[in-house]
Amino acid sequence: MIQENIAEVEANIALACEKAGRSRDSVTLIAVSKTKPLSMLVEAYDCGMREFGENKVQEICEKAEALTNPEYHFHMIGHLQTNKVKKAVLYSTCIHSVDSLNLAETINKEAAKLGKIQDILLEVNIAEEESKFGLTEDTSVTLAKTCTELKNIRLRGLMTVAPYTDDMETNRPYFRRLRELKDRINSELGLSMDMLSMGMSGDYPVAISEGATHVRVGTNIFGARNYSI
Ligand SMILES: *Cc1c(COP(=O)(O)O)cnc(C)c1O
Repeated sequence: MIQENIAEVEANIALACEKAGRSRDSVTLIAVSKTKPLSMLVEAYDCGMREFGENKVQEICEKAEALTNPEYHFHMIGHLQTNKVKKAVLYSTCIHSVDSLNLAETINKEAAKLGKIQDILLEVNIAEEESKFGLTEDTSVTLAKTCTELKNIRLRGLMTVAPYTDDMETNRPYFRRLRELKDRINSELGLSMDMLSMGMSGDYPVAISEGATHVRVGTNIFGARNYSI
């Protein structure tokens, strides 16, 4: 099941890249394994997956401590509280959900203690949905500037969670806005951010056509999540 699912997602990514005139290796597929058991991560690993997305620090810890092969890379994609930063920094390849100065400073401090340079993304609430975490476009520019002064974080780019939709085309303008925001921050601040984390099961092909470098796909790889257990 997982094998077929990954093959289908891979084919869609290849097609979206081809249509956009992009090379396949310009897009990284992150398998979002939150709520799923270790056995399913291992199965995905055996199909070639190396990047895994989780939204709870506790779950990253449990999985990273069980799957000690260093080729498993965990991405923290969920809202992060400052009191959990230490463990997030210990186990995350990249923290996609930085949405405040306080959080950026705390990550910087904990990364310094570990002698690590932590890759981070700023989470932007590009559609300005009230229910969502994330910075506004303006505050993301300000925070990006501050991040350049924090020596133990490396600001790699921007992330967004687009609105839930049955018609992926409706999210195209949001993905485009995130790409334009990244380009604008790069030129205004003289940065070279190279990551755009956008696109989920319902809309990753459109995100790729608008420049996503990292797509976060859960349901279409592992099946629906069951939160009631
Ligand atoms: C759960 C989650 C995903 C994956 O969502 P699917 O619709 O299952 O692909 C992607 N990004 C974030 C931030 C998530 O929390």
